[in-house]
Amino acid sequence: MDVRVGLGIDFHRLTPGRRLVLGGVEIPHDRGLAGHSDADVLLHAICDALLGAAALGDIGQHFPVGDPAYAGISSLELLKRTVALLAQAGYVPHQVDAVAVVERPILAPHIPTMRERIAAALGVETSAVSVKATTPEGMGTLGRGEGIGAWAVALVRTFPGSVRPREPPESSTGKHRHMDDSREAGQDARL
Ligand SMILES: [Zn+2]
Repeated sequence: MDVRVGLGIDFHRLTPGRRLVLGGVEIPHDRGLAGHSDADVLLHAICDALLGAAALGDIGQHFPVGDPAYAGISSLELLKRTVALLAQAGYVPHQVDAVAVVERPILAPHIPTMRERIAAALGVETSAVSVKATTPEGMGTLGRGEGIGAWAVALVRTFPGSVRPREPPESSTGKHRHMDDSREAGQDARL
C-alpha cells in the first residue's frame, strides 16, 4: 500500500450579499465569501490537499473559474468530484485535518455537522475527518474580518491490492487561476 500526504491552502474575501458556507454548512452571518462557486474556502483547501497528495495539480485546473458549469456549485459536489479524480489515479482518501482561520463568526457549534458532511463526501468515517478553527486575534487582514483562510492536510492511500498508480496528466497551462488576485479580475476570479 502506498500512502501519500498533501497540503492545501485557500483564502476568500468576505463580502455583503453572499451566503457564508464553510465545511459544507451554511452559517448565519452578515456577509459571505466571494467566489465563482459557493466559495467554501475550507472545502477548497481540502480538495487541494487531496489533489496534492496524488500530485494531480489544484482545483483551479480541474474546475476552472468562469466555467458556467461551476457557477454557484456546492463545494461538497466539487469535493466528491475530487474524490472521483483520485479514484481514476488509483487513490482513496484516508484521513483529513483542516483548520479555518476566521475572526467571526464562531464556528465551533457547526463543526460536528461539517465533519459529518465532509466524511460522507470523502467516503470515510467521521473519525477520519478533523475540522478546527482558530482566530487571528485581530491581526492582519483576516483579523480585520476581510476574509477567511483555510489550511488542510490529507492522507490518501492506494486501493487495497492495486498496482502502482498511473502517472497524472501533464499540467495544461501551469497557471493557477484559483490563486488569481480577485482585486484585479473581479469577485468571481476565485472558485
Ligand atoms: Zn477557493
